[in-house]
Amino acid sequence: MQFKSIIGQETVKNRLLTSLRENRVAHTQLFLGPEGSGSFAVALAFVQYINCKNKTDSDSCGVCPSCVKFQKFSHPDLHFFFPTTTNDTIKKDPKSALFLNEWRSYLEQVKAYPTQKGWHEHLNVGNKQGTIYVRDASDIIQAVSLKPYEAKYKIFFIWMAERLHVSASNKLLKTFEEPPFNTLIFIFAERYELLLPTVRSRAQLVKVDKLPEHAIREALVSKKNAGEDMANDISLISEGNWNLAQEIFENADETQEYFLKFRQWLRLCFKSGNYLELNRFNSDISRTGRENIKRFLAYGLDITHNSILLNSGNIAEIKKSADELEFLKKFAPFINTANHAEIYQLLNEAIYHIERNAHAGILFSDLSFKLGDLLLKGRQNLVTR
Ligand SMILES: [Zn+2]
Repeated sequence: MQFKSIIGQETVKNRLLTSLRENRVAHTQLFLGPEGSGSFAVALAFVQYINCKNKTDSDSCGVCPSCVKFQKFSHPDLHFFFPTTTNDTIKKDPKSALFLNEWRSYLEQVKAYPTQKGWHEHLNVGNKQGTIYVRDASDIIQAVSLKPYEAKYKIFFIWMAERLHVSASNKLLKTFEEPPFNTLIFIFAERYELLLPTVRSRAQLVKVDKLPEHAIREALVSKKNAGEDMANDISLISEGNWNLAQEIFENADETQEYFLKFRQWLRLCFKSGNYLELNRFNSDISRTGRENIKRFLAYGLDITHNSILLNSGNIAEIKKSADELEFLKKFAPFINTANHAEIYQLLNEAIYHIERNAHAGILFSDLSFKLGDLLLKGRQNLVTR
C-alpha cells in the first residue's frame, strides 16, 4: 500500500511522516477511526514507507523487494492479529495464526479496507462474533521476543481491539507499555468506549476521521469509474465510509431498478382504469423469484419510512439518490396518518407470506387493490387537511 492509494487522510499521513522525520515514532499507537475511514490502510502505507529501500519525501517506491512483500501483506516482519472464531475448517481453538491465508486474501479483496462484517462474511461464520484470544496474546509475546527477520522493525497490527478478550488484553499490557527495541505495535479500533481502559492508556492515540464527501466522490470516480452524478449522490449518503460507498455503488443498478419498478407500481395502483396494465405488472413481478420480490417489497417499506421522515421535517436523515428524493417529495404527502400504519402492515405481511411460499401472482393482485385504496385514503386526508 502506497500513500498515493489512500483516500483522503492527509492530516494523519503528514503527522506520521513528521513523526518519522523527527525520529519520534511511538512504539505503541492506537488508530481510532470509524469503519471505512481507512485507518488500517494508512498505517499499512506508513510501515511500508518506513521499510522502503527507495522512498521519496512523501511515499514508498512500491517496487523494491520490501514494498512488494508489504503489498502482498506477507512481509515476514509484519504480524497480523485479528478476531477469529471456529468455522468449517478450524473447528477448535481458533487464533489468528491459523487464518493468515484467509486474512491475506481478504485484505487483497478489500484493498486493505477491512470491516468487521466483511471479515466475518469472508470466514463464512454467520453471526458468530470473532475474538482475539489469549492464545493470540501468547503468539504476540513470543514473536515480540525474537529479532526482526529482515526489516529494521518487527511490526504488529492488532485489528479490532474491541474484540480483545480481557485475558488477552491483560497478558499484553506489559508488551504494549514497553515493547522491546525495534518493535512497533499498531492497534486498531472503531469505538473508544468499547476498549479496555488498560489498552487505551498504554498507546498513543491517532484519531482518524471519517472521510469528507469530496474524498469519497473523487475516489468513486477514479477507482470505480463512477459517473460524476452518481459519485456525487453516493458521496452524500455514504456517511464518510468508503466501504459503504462501494457497497452502494455496487448495488446501485439494483436499487435503481427497484425504484423505477416501485414508482411504476404506485402509479398503476393509484390510477383507476389501468387494470390490464396493472395485471401485466403483477404477473411480471411475480415471476422474478421470491428473494427478488422480498427485496422489492422491502424497498417499498423503505420508501414509506422515508416519506414519513420527510413529512416530519427530517430531510437530513434521508439517505437517497437525487432521483429518489425528487420522487419522495411528490409521493410523501400521500403517506400520512390516514394510512401509514396500514401501508407498513400491508407490506410487512406480504413479505411474511412470500417467505412462506404464497402464490406471488395472487398476492400481488390483492396487494395492488389494497394499496390503491390506502393511497386514496391518504389523498382524501391530504385534501381535507
Ligand atoms: Zn520500496
